[in-house]
Amino acid sequence: MKTIPYWIDTADAFPDRSGKPLPENADLVVVGAGLTGLSTALHAARKGARVVLVEKEKIGSGASARNGSMCNLGFTIGVGQAIRRYGIERAREIYNSYGQAVDTVEELVTTESIDCQFRRVGRLGVAYRPEHFARQQVQQRDLARHFGHETTLVGKSELRAEIGSDFYHGALLDPLSAGLHVGRFVRGMAEAAERAGVEIHEGNAATDVRRAPNGRFQVETARGVVDAGQVMMATDAYTDRSFPWLRRKQVCVGSFIIVTEPLGEELARALIPRGRLIVDSKNIGHYFRLTPDHRLMFGGRARFAPSDPESDNKSGAVLLREMREIFPQLSRTKVEYVWGGSVGFAMDRIPHAGQTADGVYYSMGYAGHGVQMATYMGRVMAEVMDGHPEANPVRGLAAPRIPFYNGTAWFLPFAGAYYRAKDRIR
Ligand SMILES: Cc1cc2nc3c(=O)[nH]c(=O)nc-3n(C[C@H](O)[C@H](O)[C@H](O)COP(=O)(O)OP(=O)(O)OC[C@H]3O[C@@H](n4cnc5c(N)ncnc54)[C@H](O)[C@@H]3O)c2cc1C
Repeated sequence: MKTIPYWIDTADAFPDRSGKPLPENADLVVVGAGLTGLSTALHAARKGARVVLVEKEKIGSGASARNGSMCNLGFTIGVGQAIRRYGIERAREIYNSYGQAVDTVEELVTTESIDCQFRRVGRLGVAYRPEHFARQQVQQRDLARHFGHETTLVGKSELRAEIGSDFYHGALLDPLSAGLHVGRFVRGMAEAAERAGVEIHEGNAATDVRRAPNGRFQVETARGVVDAGQVMMATDAYTDRSFPWLRRKQVCVGSFIIVTEPLGEELARALIPRGRLIVDSKNIGHYFRLTPDHRLMFGGRARFAPSDPESDNKSGAVLLREMREIFPQLSRTKVEYVWGGSVGFAMDRIPHAGQTADGVYYSMGYAGHGVQMATYMGRVMAEVMDGHPEANPVRGLAAPRIPFYNGTAWFLPFAGAYYRAKDRIR
């Protein structure tokens, strides 16, 4: 069994970008080379900034190349809830940013010629309980009425055309969501950033950021100090203990994935005939899709524990059992990959991005929608740093404080037990 993410294993190896001497100064230092950092760096460099990107490990070694490779429209909160919280205009602006985010990924794939199999195959939200399908009917009406977004309901009797399983009670189809090969996309973004002039330094952790009396920043790293005009923190759920103020803004939850052996085209098409990206409506839900070589990728929050080798293996066993419950035809199918990673959530489940009182920029908390939102917010933050704060769809929205939370989520096992118990009632 391979424990490397399938998307990294099946992309060309990323060339090593460690060990180079650091420059003494830069217009912008970006910390973290996931999609937020790569996109911020690329877009700032396109505007003429001299950008240095420092990455503690390797490009994409955080969540960006170890995810479900789904570029889905729509946020993780309900339409009604968003309108109550933000008012109709602001809710629409935030909602629309998710669509613009998928467009941004598509545009980058085209303009930078990134060969990553980006296809608008559609996202199918499948209803785990009959009342979830009733909720989807309200959601479909609200999306069209308030946000002008057209989706299609799929009743239980039509569901076999979409999924080779009788496990679900109906579905809501969004036609604009896209699948891609995220390992190739991340690599392509790193190459595009370098073509635009970004200097990438892997294997080099930032350990402190200080504001100097002249208004510039001193970014201390394991390999030296860089004097920077601006600093962007792009470390999301992988923010380490050097930056406790940033860790406290969100909770990091483990998410895990298994990938089967190749199934052959016929069986793969029998499972997901139209190649949709499937997400179920359980509280501790699953997400699954086919891979380009006809495997099933099956992910979920199998355990409320951080990803580590032991947790990944235990989660893999839970996911295998759950996958076979949905698809009994895979009872003898072997699993070839298992891995896990951390997803960042603020308590209000929308991204948070802006500038601290000290003037450091950040963007984080994409709540499982970071393939497109991290890429998009990188572009947005390059605009913000260029003097356009209005470009930020979540400007001014502070992340709610979590009582008694210091960056270590001791309460997650309790939350996990609660939601798992709710899911057992069917
Ligand atoms: C298992 C899993 C499945 C997911 N599925 C999906 C999906 O299908 N669709 C979707 O849209 N989203 C999904 N997500 C979420 C998505 O992957 C993330 O939201 C997104 O990748 C975040 O990108 P990022 O660049 O902000 O952070 P990351 O990609 O996590 O990058 C942060 C980087 O910062 C580096 N770093 C940390 N500290 C330092 C430091 N001190 N100095 C230098 N570097 C540092 C880390 O090494 C890391 O490389 C999933 C996540 C996981 C874990």
